[in-house]
Amino acid sequence: MLSYEVVEHGKPLQARLRETPQPQGSEVLVRITRSGVCHSDLHIWEGYFDLGGGKRFYVKDRGCVPPFTTGHEPYGVVEKLGPQASGVKVGDKRLVYPWIGCGSCAVCEAGQDNYCLNQRFLGVVKPGAYATHVVVPDAKYLIDASGIDEGWAATLACSGLTAFSGIAKLPDLAPRDWVIVLGCGGLGMAAIAMLQARGVSNIVACDVDETKLARAREQGAAASVDTRGADALDQLKSITGGAIAGALDFVGMPATANLGIAALAKGGHYVLCGLFGGEITLSLPPIAQRGISVRGSYVGSLGELKQVVALAQSGKLKPSPVEVRPASEVNRTLQELLGGKVIGRVVLDFEHTDPDRAA
Ligand SMILES: [Zn+2]
Ligand SMILES: [Zn+2]
Repeated sequence: MLSYEVVEHGKPLQARLRETPQPQGSEVLVRITRSGVCHSDLHIWEGYFDLGGGKRFYVKDRGCVPPFTTGHEPYGVVEKLGPQASGVKVGDKRLVYPWIGCGSCAVCEAGQDNYCLNQRFLGVVKPGAYATHVVVPDAKYLIDASGIDEGWAATLACSGLTAFSGIAKLPDLAPRDWVIVLGCGGLGMAAIAMLQARGVSNIVACDVDETKLARAREQGAAASVDTRGADALDQLKSITGGAIAGALDFVGMPATANLGIAALAKGGHYVLCGLFGGEITLSLPPIAQRGISVRGSYVGSLGELKQVVALAQSGKLKPSPVEVRPASEVNRTLQELLGGKVIGRVVLDFEHTDPDRAA
């Protein structure tokens, strides 16, 4: 098998040829055809998350030590089953749910693998999908996503799912309510499509990049605000008449958090999904006085990913912009993502990767 591995944090990924793993027990070996490139891969590549105030969370402290294969938006073909594996057959095309927990704790038994403390997340603590092959612990994590574009399907495993689960944390919205989407990269674009599928059209897209804002309006946002302006908060209030019931933050930096929380109407919900980094200081009385909620949402559950796939298959969800590139362009892609140059999602094509030639 071929994988593009983090050999040293922050340095270009290196192509490595390794023995293709043999699935044991209930494991399933999936040959990857499409692999989405997510912004959080940058953190794993760089080796840390910025906690603000000079504090960092190092990914090596949760077992992610180079050489390591990142990538958590895997789509592929079942190539081999372990002796106890069942539920799929060789040749089945499947989307892989990557947020796999231990499988036996109370959280996992409640179907919330993504909040398990003994996580086996693919591309985070286990070898991920910047590779021709991935071992999945059990066929139950494989989802039939037939009928939709494979590149787009891959992106549903993280960007689609994260957007869906973040939106699910908003209460039912009244027709006059507005939602602001902070950050119009892959996640924000998916969220705009999903809000619309949920019947929400009062959406304001917020970003610092005019090209992304234009794409967000094409995607269905009713309005957009360039948040570099000092009057961004005033603009949001005037566009929405002050009726912002939800703020979805797909960036997660002090500027977006402060803006999202400040913009909320009384009783509104700020949901943090982005992991850009930093810290903020919040005055406590207004949180109570305004009756607002500040909460986080991390990726999503297996059940939610099945709902996302069903939504996509129903035709109600407008596909997010996806650009498919040869897998060998992974380093260029990471650099572009780092520079904020990617519109929507880049998906790596491993289907046409010949391990012997690529390495
Ligand atoms: Zn991701
Ligand atoms: Zn668990």
